[in-house]
Amino acid sequence: MSEKYDVVVIGAGPGGYVAAIRAAQLGLNTLCIEKWVSAEDKLVLGGTCLNTGCIPSKALLASSHKYVEVRDEMAVHGIQVNAPKIDVAAMLARKDKIVTQLTGGIAGLFKANGVNVAEGLGKVLVGKRVEITAKDGTVTVVDADNIIIAAGSVPIDIPPAPVDNDTIIDSTGALELTEVPKRLGVIGAGVIGLELGSVWGRLGSEVVIIEALDEFLPTIDKQIAKEAHKIFTKKQGMDIRLSARVTGTKVDAKKKQVTVSYTDSDGDKEIVVDKLIVAVGRKPYTEQLLAGDSGVTLDERGFIFVNGKCQTDAPGVYAIGDVVRGPMLAHKASEEGVMVAERIAGKKTQINYDCIPGIIYTHPEVASVGMTEEQLVADGIPYKTGVFPFAASGRAMAANDTGGMVKMIAHEETDRILGCHIIGPSAADLVQQIVIAMEFGSSAEDIALTVFGHPTLSEAVHEAALAVGGHAIHIANKKPRKPKAKK
Ligand code: FAD
Ligand code: AMP
Repeated sequence: MSEKYDVVVIGAGPGGYVAAIRAAQLGLNTLCIEKWVSAEDKLVLGGTCLNTGCIPSKALLASSHKYVEVRDEMAVHGIQVNAPKIDVAAMLARKDKIVTQLTGGIAGLFKANGVNVAEGLGKVLVGKRVEITAKDGTVTVVDADNIIIAAGSVPIDIPPAPVDNDTIIDSTGALELTEVPKRLGVIGAGVIGLELGSVWGRLGSEVVIIEALDEFLPTIDKQIAKEAHKIFTKKQGMDIRLSARVTGTKVDAKKKQVTVSYTDSDGDKEIVVDKLIVAVGRKPYTEQLLAGDSGVTLDERGFIFVNGKCQTDAPGVYAIGDVVRGPMLAHKASEEGVMVAERIAGKKTQINYDCIPGIIYTHPEVASVGMTEEQLVADGIPYKTGVFPFAASGRAMAANDTGGMVKMIAHEETDRILGCHIIGPSAADLVQQIVIAMEFGSSAEDIALTVFGHPTLSEAVHEAALAVGGHAIHIANKKPRKPKAKK
């Protein structure tokens, strides 16, 4: 007789570990299987997010931002400093310490909540059985009333730029560079490319970002994307080449450099860089995950097919996070984990997929929730907007951090908030206020009538809401313009 669990979770990233903890909290006998083992032969919990994604990238972004502040932004405050030096090894060690602390924390949370853990590769068999193959080759099979697949994603590689983990690296390699490359190439101007390009650019690399699309950040509200492009290129000196498709690379091992060929509207071009980061997106990870007769199916893009409740085609088998449709974000994975655990326990939990914030942790940060102006135009939904620039915020001025704006969009007739798009200091935290407001079905006027502390960056959100109604106080209001929606 094999062991039997109420819930077996495959993967201990932010989708899987959160699902396992919530399931255990609800009294379900839960097993979480994770295959990731460190070079020191220790089980690694936390998945991409904690180990090679959100957390280490934010640690390096924080360190490199401090460096820029000390280098460029002290004099204005009347503080005199000598030119700072960067100790890359110390910066990486700090990042690694944070990762170790957090991943160790998950092991503690598993223990505290009574989650059982198994090291090994989990494979979904027919009839709600899961095969676990440990690193030493031992195979066991467990039975489950419910299975939650949270196998995550891995970087996409492209034939013209094969990752060699030396000169051509992926996002994981870009978190481990032991020195600041003089010339850094990045393929892909998406979230990861911009964040990692920022880290090394701030520390002194000459960064060239090569992006195949002709539009910068095409999924972001255009007004915000335009402002971001202006700040990154004009103020921060990032060289972002759009409509440029990488066609090949040639590594010169002796010179430790790589020639990157790309094509743009003028024809074929080349750049030579010391390191090249391939950041062209991520793909769902389903290798060796599903037995042929598991009943779980994939969609045309290779994601596990699920419905709005994260149910796969196999009864009792769920899938969450990066391995299924939707934005590849840790908080989306975690919320799906909570939803599925609670539904297994008999609750009716749902996720509001319209209210998932998306953030780029550059400086300034870019954060948004809900619909963009372009989407509303395309859908023919009448809307009104309110914009407030941080240049008019007393708190932003006091902090010498005035780049960007808050843009709020509300329905033309009902005033219900449909979206909020921010580029500016602490945009990630500011947008969360509107995520909550949207969850509560708030109107722009509700925000306008709310008291905001002074002086705070949040006042920019308040003023944007006031501007939606045409009565912002601290900027001149534009005459309400005709909504652009199609008939
Ligand atoms: P993962 O975190 O990928 O975890 C999956 C786990 O499953 C892994 O530990 C894997 O080893 C394990 N696994 C896979 N297959 C098996 C198997 N068969 N058996 C056992 N175990 C298995 N998102 C944000 O929201 N904010 C950010 O700031 C952010 N920054 C990022 C920065 C970078 C550089 C990267 C790469 C990603 C970033 N992300 C960010 C994305 C975020 O990391 C992912 O969306 C998130 O980790 C997805 O969670 P998940 O649980 O679905 O999968
Ligand atoms: P994201 O999906 O947000 O991580 O962004 C990845 C980016 O990489 C997308 O904007 C793609 O257009 C871009 N990209 C993919 N392949 C290439 C290529 N061969 N050359 C340049 N950019 C690319």
